[in-house]
Amino acid sequence: MGIVLLGPPGSGKGTQGARLSERLGVRHLSTGELLRAEVDAGTDRGRRVAGYLDRGELVPDDVILAALRPALAEARAAGGYVLDGFPRTRAQAERLPADDLAVQLDLPDDVARERLAGRDEGRSDDTDPDVIDRRLRVYHADAGALLALYRDRGRLVTVDAARPPDEVEAAIDAAVAAAD
Ligand code: AMP
Repeated sequence: MGIVLLGPPGSGKGTQGARLSERLGVRHLSTGELLRAEVDAGTDRGRRVAGYLDRGELVPDDVILAALRPALAEARAAGGYVLDGFPRTRAQAERLPADDLAVQLDLPDDVARERLAGRDEGRSDDTDPDVIDRRLRVYHADAGALLALYRDRGRLVTVDAARPPDEVEAAIDAAVAAAD
């Protein structure tokens, strides 16, 4: 089973990804977390990507794919995954199986901005308003094409993410159950 969570920064991909993967008994893979762990550990890859994360820009595809590949293979062998933060672009989506289900966490930008400004997870890319704006722009630059890809495959469900986490969770559960 493969599920990908799509949505702007602040839409709850991390929270919902953790909850959904636990309920389904599959792995939760967050590319943002993978990269931040490498930055914190001071690996070569971490040094290479730190600037992109600080600026709110996408890291190059070859780097993100190399970081994700082993975790993805392991998750597949263990029964599946809920991916959060990947794919960000159509090209990235084409690296995943065509029958993966995409769950769009739909959230207006003004709500995303408010949430990010109030979030305190020690992430420097969450506090600077210019970086938040860039992350939203980067999201919207590719979101249309990415959503269209899953919609055309008949593998897109959309959930209103501007609600409390428990309600979003229930809506995701219902959408995933109906899609399978
Ligand atoms: P996130 O935690 O998903 O908001 O990701 C934080 C940062 O990690 C992003 O702003 C990007 O710099 C980088 N990143 C995460 N996932 C990807 C991806 N799939 N492609 C490129 N860059 C990514």
